[in-house]
Amino acid sequence: MRSDDYLTGAGRNPHLRTCDACGKQIAKSARTCPHCGKTYTTLGGVFIAVIIGLILAGYFFSRK
Ligand SMILES: [Zn+2]
Repeated sequence: MRSDDYLTGAGRNPHLRTCDACGKQIAKSARTCPHCGKTYTTLGGVFIAVIIGLILAGYFFSRK
């Protein structure tokens, strides 16, 4: 076992995730990939967007 695998997490580090754009390991808390610069919306941001979407959908569908 190479020590590099442990240091880089090798895909098993719970604090890391794989970048969608470049496939490299980045921190879960990272908002941008340090390797390729891809930006990520935080989970909280996605949740709020979904809630707002549901509210707007309910508003429009309830209008008569
Ligand atoms: Zn990347």
